[in-house]
Amino acid sequence: MATTAVAAYQPKPSKGFDDVIIIGGGLAGLFCALKLAPRAVTVLAAAPIGRGASSAWAQAGIAAAVGPGDTVDKHVTDTIIAGDGIVDGDIIRMMATEASARIHDLLEFGVPFDRDLAGKLSVSREAAHSESRIVRVKGDMAGRAIMEALVAAVRKTPSIRVLEGYVAEELITEDGRVTGVVARDQAGSGEDLHRLTASHVVMATGGVGHLFEVTTNPTEARGGGIGMAARAGARLADMEFVQFHPTAINVGKDPAPLATEALRGHGATLHNSAGERFMLGLHKDAELAPRDVVARGIFAEVKAGRGAFLDCRTAVHDFADEFPTVFGYCRDAGIDPAREMIPVVPAAHYFMGGIWTDADGRSSLPGFWACGECTSTGAHGANRLASNSLLEAVVFSARIAIRLGTEMTGVAPANWQDGSVSSASHLAENDHPNMVALRKTMSANLGVLRDGDGMREALRTILELARNSHSTRFDNVITTAKLIAVSALNRLESRGGHFRTDFPEESPDWKRRTLLTLEQANAIVPDLLETD
Ligand SMILES: Cc1cc2nc3c(=O)[nH]c(=O)nc-3n(C[C@H](O)[C@H](O)[C@H](O)COP(=O)(O)OP(=O)(O)OC[C@H]3O[C@@H](n4cnc5c(N)ncnc54)[C@H](O)[C@@H]3O)c2cc1C
Repeated sequence: MATTAVAAYQPKPSKGFDDVIIIGGGLAGLFCALKLAPRAVTVLAAAPIGRGASSAWAQAGIAAAVGPGDTVDKHVTDTIIAGDGIVDGDIIRMMATEASARIHDLLEFGVPFDRDLAGKLSVSREAAHSESRIVRVKGDMAGRAIMEALVAAVRKTPSIRVLEGYVAEELITEDGRVTGVVARDQAGSGEDLHRLTASHVVMATGGVGHLFEVTTNPTEARGGGIGMAARAGARLADMEFVQFHPTAINVGKDPAPLATEALRGHGATLHNSAGERFMLGLHKDAELAPRDVVARGIFAEVKAGRGAFLDCRTAVHDFADEFPTVFGYCRDAGIDPAREMIPVVPAAHYFMGGIWTDADGRSSLPGFWACGECTSTGAHGANRLASNSLLEAVVFSARIAIRLGTEMTGVAPANWQDGSVSSASHLAENDHPNMVALRKTMSANLGVLRDGDGMREALRTILELARNSHSTRFDNVITTAKLIAVSALNRLESRGGHFRTDFPEESPDWKRRTLLTLEQANAIVPDLLETD
């Protein structure tokens, strides 16, 4: 493991007011910062805000029971069914209940959600939702519009200091309490390590897609925040559950652009290179089967060398108008979806696991909070219901802000942004070759289809990469990968996003969430690697 040379710790200078560091500038981080105003907040973001975040790429929108005939009860029921037996009922009820208030907050921040002629919010339908409940912007532009509005609001808020291009590498702890963070500038390649302290730290670093070779997530989504939290001793939950989107566009791009599920909702069909509509033989709902079933169907065709193709030629009449984002991706790849089928492949898309939090976003470590995709709150169980993740990001970040508001003293003075960063020189290591090796083994052995032998091979590779790491940033990443491998090997069944060919059925013994710390995971590694 790498060690980090930073300036000797100085007791936190009394600033005369409490302040918060938020790590991550996606929807969860920015919404939390805005809800905390006028309290002093520093947002660290690996990329300029509005970029390098899954939030800006969301296509469908946010789930909220605000349409005619819809109810919180129906939203709760649909989520519990999708989550395959291990959704926390209290958490999802709270989240569905607070959805409408958070949509109104977003409207106040200037998000231009679509409305009907009467001025009411328009809602659309997505797979596994029993009602139309996706609040959207111009068809498939929700993420971009939401982030543009929030970035503009953040830039106008003087209590929020934004440090862009700062990659957090390590949490600072003092007597078990998280008191700050060590970060590197220039998108993680700078020569200096910066040390920032605060009364509270909120992790909002997003998902883990880039641990896998094929993913829809931005490069920054490599699980570093989760690994950092684990290394500081935080409790993690449900680390085995990764959701693979069935239809990423397979044109060799990294990240892979997404062909939204709504295309299949519109009647687009899936075929292999022999022209067979293979989903017909796999599920009664064919292309509209649950996301994980379609992902496995496509994966099998790709693995067999036949490939999989989405045929939208008769289902979509005016592609450029109805699905402008997907149309743009196809055009960039030289595909005309009105005349040609779109090659597709499953891609790591969403992480149900992460830093365990309670209903207020509080982690197991004092002073440390978390929200958004880097958390596991219990809202998604083993499989996320589409469009519940943006909702989770706003609900929990608002709850953190409300809770912190009662615990903090003082508001940001006018000149507060000038202080509290100290630096020491420490060169960054190039972890690119290690990332390539890691992503390869994660996709091959911890992807859509898993089995004991493959996962043990992945775990051995991960342990080897961890031993040879000379970079704190990679230590975080490899820690997250290890926790995924350990949790997946440990769960002797298939459920939701976790499918084992050697244990293909659900087991009542495993109808529970996985909760563990890094220490507990390390303790069971030798047993898991035993083959007999
Ligand atoms: C293509 C695509 C389409 C999607 N469509 C939908 C949808 O329609 N509806 C829905 O509900 N969900 C959708 N999702 C999922 C949803 O977008 C995410 O779950 C959600 O946006 C996560 O928000 P977040 O703020 O937690 O993370 P992000 O938006 O990913 O933000 C994470 C932030 O942390 C920063 N960061 C990461 N590591 C570090 C570090 N070490 N130091 C400092 N900063 C760091 C990143 O740069 C970024 O600013 C989609 C996801 C993708 C990829």
